[in-house]
Amino acid sequence: KNMMVHQLAEAANVKPELIVEAADILGRKVYFSTVLTDFGFLCEIVKKLGLRRKLEGGGKTFEKTLLADKDECRSPKPHDMSSFPHRPPIITIMGHVDHGKTTLLDYLRKTTVAEKEAGGITQKIGAFSVKLNEEKNITFLDTPGHAAFTAMRQRGAQLTDIVVLVVAADDGIMEQTEESIRMANESKVPIIVAINKCDSKNAKPEKVIKQLVHHNLEPEKAGGKTQVIQISAKTGMGISNLVESILLEAEMMDLRADPSARVEGVIVESNKSKTHGPVGSVVVQQGILKRGMWLTAGTAFARVKFITDENNKQMSEASPGAAVNIVGWKSLPPVGEIMLQVNTEFRAKEVTQYRSKLQSMEQLDEDWKKISKIRQKEKEMYVEMKMKGLRKQQSRFLLNEKSNSLFTTTHDVPQLNIIVKADVEGSLDAIMQVLKTYDCTDLCELNVISSGVGGMTENDLISAKAFSGSIILFNQSASEEQLKSATRHSVPVQQFDVIYHLVDHLKETLEDLIEERD
Ligand code: GDP
Repeated sequence: KNMMVHQLAEAANVKPELIVEAADILGRKVYFSTVLTDFGFLCEIVKKLGLRRKLEGGGKTFEKTLLADKDECRSPKPHDMSSFPHRPPIITIMGHVDHGKTTLLDYLRKTTVAEKEAGGITQKIGAFSVKLNEEKNITFLDTPGHAAFTAMRQRGAQLTDIVVLVVAADDGIMEQTEESIRMANESKVPIIVAINKCDSKNAKPEKVIKQLVHHNLEPEKAGGKTQVIQISAKTGMGISNLVESILLEAEMMDLRADPSARVEGVIVESNKSKTHGPVGSVVVQQGILKRGMWLTAGTAFARVKFITDENNKQMSEASPGAAVNIVGWKSLPPVGEIMLQVNTEFRAKEVTQYRSKLQSMEQLDEDWKKISKIRQKEKEMYVEMKMKGLRKQQSRFLLNEKSNSLFTTTHDVPQLNIIVKADVEGSLDAIMQVLKTYDCTDLCELNVISSGVGGMTENDLISAKAFSGSIILFNQSASEEQLKSATRHSVPVQQFDVIYHLVDHLKETLEDLIEERD
């Protein structure tokens, strides 16, 4: 297991100086010949340098790969891609809420998703391809605001080639428009602006164009570099121009992929199907995806049983740029995770088990931070109580899920303990992102005891009861029996199918708690 700095560098195909630098940042001085005996520290370096992908894509186990078994290691992408065939561009539509993202996607897909979705909010993450002719395709990611984009960035996946920024002509640039611009710029993804709702009486596209100039998005017509197209997602006006612009931008970017490489892609949606078990939607980035292949994505792995397109039609294979569903996952592949092909079942298991190990190490780290925070809080409370000598002490048990140990702690802010269950990873991600912003104010505390994909279980009820918490179901219904059981245990169960209703409900409950306390 022990290896020297230069051996690690060789296995990862990087300069040893980089490893020395990373170690330095992590607070340790090492030399090329230093033996790395501390496995945790080694993992830190690997994480710091983003080497995980490089090391795990091929080869034997992680440790064995480190021992320079280079034959099976992922080959670095060639600098000259010009001999490879073109691939479809992958587009993310971003913009402020209600500016017409769903309607536009919908028009492009020629279905009526916007009308069917509760409250009109886009809640599921997926992708679909628009076929223009035999040769030209565009792949659109179906994202709820920024959630997917952020999830992917956090996991180091870069999937989007071009951002189509939707700005309503009657509303102009708003907060989330600015956020979208910032995110696209940070990821160095070019932006095409679609000024939407140009059919509306209140449309002021000229005003929007002026605003765009202030955000460094000067239209080509005015001598700038950005393609700005006026459209109506409702009537379809200008959408063919938008599609042309996308193709033009893609052509300039000269997007190509190696079809003979090991398959790589990104998970864009995952859910449990009653008939097929865990299903992962994926956008292929390189290689030709075929049935029977072994794949890994985070801690999940699959043997490709079959591949379907967005209309559930079976396909024999999928090339780079294609968006497809894969049936055959042994567990839910995490949204935003990079998907890599491996040679054998043995290897798939090794890689995913190793990642689980790494994850539990990270989890331990998180737990430790949480415990330290609680201890710190306890200390402060103790001092405060001594000073006032009056305040009543409330005890509470925090059950640490991983280690099953109990920590006693004291708090004097009202707490709301909840368990969140949602239909798909995409919704859950979106909800958790919103909830994060309500966490840990001085006046109250929102604790998410646990969260997951699927319906309410007996375990959820037991934990909710233990924490005097409630269960929040999103796009999930509970049976008559379950509801009765919840009533017996005095566990409130709330069901929602619109994210902002859920958030409003939590806000109200927290406010009530604060009032009760006052
Ligand atoms: P999203 O939140 O960005 O996905 O916005 P939606 O697609 O749900 O659209 C919000 C509202 O704007 C809906 O009521 C749509 O019918 C309406 N809308 C979307 N595009 C247009 C358009 O081009 N013209 C007009 N007049 N209304 C539109």
